[in-house]
Amino acid sequence: MSDDLDQRAAELDRAHAGTDLRDRFLLPDGIVYLDGNSLGALPKAVPEAVADVIGRQWGTDLISSWNTHGWWDAPARVGDAIGRLVGAAPGQVVVGDSTSVRLFQSLHAAAALRPDARVVLTEPDGFPTDRYVVDGVARQVGWTVVHARPHEIVGLLNSDVAAVVLSHVDYRTGALLDLPGLTAVAHEVGALAVWDLCHSAGAVPVGLDAHGVDLAVGCGYKYLNGGPGAPAFGYVARRHQQAFVNIVPGWHGHADPFEMADEYTGAPGIARARIGTPPLLSLLALESALTAFDGVDIEAVRARSLSLTGFLRSSIETLVAGADFASSQDDALRGSQVAVRHPAAYGIVQALAARGVVGDFRTPDIVRLGVAAPYLTHAEMVTAARALRAVLEAGEHLDPAWATRNAVT
Ligand SMILES: *Cc1c(COP(=O)(O)O)cnc(C)c1O
Repeated sequence: MSDDLDQRAAELDRAHAGTDLRDRFLLPDGIVYLDGNSLGALPKAVPEAVADVIGRQWGTDLISSWNTHGWWDAPARVGDAIGRLVGAAPGQVVVGDSTSVRLFQSLHAAAALRPDARVVLTEPDGFPTDRYVVDGVARQVGWTVVHARPHEIVGLLNSDVAAVVLSHVDYRTGALLDLPGLTAVAHEVGALAVWDLCHSAGAVPVGLDAHGVDLAVGCGYKYLNGGPGAPAFGYVARRHQQAFVNIVPGWHGHADPFEMADEYTGAPGIARARIGTPPLLSLLALESALTAFDGVDIEAVRARSLSLTGFLRSSIETLVAGADFASSQDDALRGSQVAVRHPAAYGIVQALAARGVVGDFRTPDIVRLGVAAPYLTHAEMVTAARALRAVLEAGEHLDPAWATRNAVT
């Protein structure tokens, strides 16, 4: 049985050799890294690029680097590079600040675009920061927050809904929502569609322009591999840019920043969404990280991802009787992860890590195995499934050492 899996993995790896980008990444030996949806692996191009930014740009060229090394333009330039991966034509994505800040900014802008609507529709089990920020902005602008499961949204839409705020891929279950369909029904009542792409940017085609999304945000450090604390991105569809109200009207978003004018005048275009000085070391690390996607389109990454996640699931099914999956078997409903429910999920994740298979735990009971397709192979999916079987068979997940949880799970 296991031999079959090895053979099947080898066949699949041969069939998908064209999208194997492992040699563009630096990963330690002996580890199967299934946590690229929390912190993407290190692209090979990054250390040298960052050394250049520090040594030559900062160390030697100093302040002139704002002009000579394109520091000033970096938020929009890196935004365009991300735009290619999420289906946004140039001039609609800006990079800087965190996803939390970008979401806060986007929701305030949504409220300004829909001044007469009083309701925000969102999911009940979204990522905590999204729920907190939606609640916070709702208090600030006078919105009522209505929670709805994806299938309930249509029935709750009416002209009083200002915005529908959803995660394209659920961070726990990996559920992939119907972004085109939900965006279209939101538009039917005049509501704005605001999407969080943290678990889809760099992994799943999004098609922001093609589907008429209004506003979107996403992380730089997950599937985009920008490094710890990499800045986030915000998308403002071109048709909304002129009316985009920036709730944090910092000087980098000013129409003429070096005039040092007394009054704020928002810049034209996506620059209007800029705030203040971006974290350039991180921003330029992210820019070089994105070169790992050079010459590859997101549909190809997705095809590889679906093959890997489908094979990981079937390998687990083969080896672990009764595995309870939180992620869907249906390709159309699954992002780029396999999630398994188990009451001892935390212990399982720790025991797997001790065996070199790195995933993460998400409360209350989810073993989350993130599959960043560019640097993973089908052979590694078998290794991970075998490790899961071995952990459960030997009861390694019940080790009292796992009774206290680390601060970061
Ligand atoms: C990872 C993630 C975030 C993180 O937000 P930060 O501001 O970067 O901490 C937000 N939303 C979702 C859906 C995420 O998956």
